[in-house]
Amino acid sequence: IVKHVRASLHDLKPYIPGKPIADVQRELGLDDVIKLASNENPVGPSPKAQAAIQAALTDLHRYPDGGQVVLKSELAKHLGVSEDMFLIGNGSDEVISFLCATFVEPGEEIVVPSPSFSEYKFASTVMAGKTVEVPLREGFEYNLDDFAEAITEHTRIVFLCSPNNPTGTYIRHSDLEKFLEKIPSDILVVIDEAYNEYVEAPDYAQGLEFLKQGYNVAVMRTFSKLYALASLRVGYTIAKSEIVSFVNRVREPFNVNHLAQVAAIAALHDEEHIALSRRVNSEGKQALYKGFSSLGLRYIPTETNFILVDTGVNSKELFQSLLKKGVIIRDGGFFGLPTWIRVSIGLPEENERFLAALKESV
Ligand code: PMP
Repeated sequence: IVKHVRASLHDLKPYIPGKPIADVQRELGLDDVIKLASNENPVGPSPKAQAAIQAALTDLHRYPDGGQVVLKSELAKHLGVSEDMFLIGNGSDEVISFLCATFVEPGEEIVVPSPSFSEYKFASTVMAGKTVEVPLREGFEYNLDDFAEAITEHTRIVFLCSPNNPTGTYIRHSDLEKFLEKIPSDILVVIDEAYNEYVEAPDYAQGLEFLKQGYNVAVMRTFSKLYALASLRVGYTIAKSEIVSFVNRVREPFNVNHLAQVAAIAALHDEEHIALSRRVNSEGKQALYKGFSSLGLRYIPTETNFILVDTGVNSKELFQSLLKKGVIIRDGGFFGLPTWIRVSIGLPEENERFLAALKESV
């Protein structure tokens, strides 16, 4: 029967996520393990989101609101666009799959940065689409002319990830404007802004501004990062309502559960938790920069909650030696960067512990 499995699936490598803490505790017999591998918010979930879940527990026997009406309405008010421009997914991972299922026919192409988030290629491959990878330039900087050149008559989606995972680099406003003016108007430009809420750079291109101006842009955001709800799986895209109405056809009716919806609404409005999360990230970033500099290691300045750093040693071995010390990070080998690691910015004590372990290993 295996011969009937779709051809596109034979070479498909499943996504390997950051190692869970429980796995490391079990495998290495360690109690005290810290995880700086999946770009989670180390502050923990918003107390308001936790309270909203508690209050919603009595509704577990009901199906969730399949139209996600309240969440969309709150997001619409928050971002200044209309409710019919939102498509909410079980994490933005699911939204990426929906976008490819909507636009990519077998043999058609998506254009993606390299290195970048692996789900774009995964979702396109499942649809038997091709993935054209555009290398980032020196310092992992975007050059959007390279992306414009990669577009062919077969291109359906250009995925831009800004700030980019795993590099932390971002697209500048004036560059995006030039790019959108230049490319054919029937191409959808998806800007994955999973880390948008961490950005500090004043010249960062806000995809939403371009969408509001009428460009064919779909912005993607998530509640997994700054809003600290990774476990609940809530991500979304904002696009022209005509596009959303088609993407909505591939969505299953109850894809976002009730607890996730109420928690997302509460987290969106928890200003105290948001401010604390930003401050912890900003201060942790400076502490890690300082630590890398004192070790003489090159790092890429980041607009996110993680940092890509060149350790100068084999990252696979470094990953293992940090693991033995109870510190989980991301091995750059996964992104084709065999001396680099990606480390999520943690709490002050986590950053210190990571730096101490790193110092012993490089
Ligand atoms: N896009 C990017 C760039 C990411 O880094 C991640 C999470 N690693 C996602 C999307 C997926 O986020 P979610 O938890 O919303 O599926």
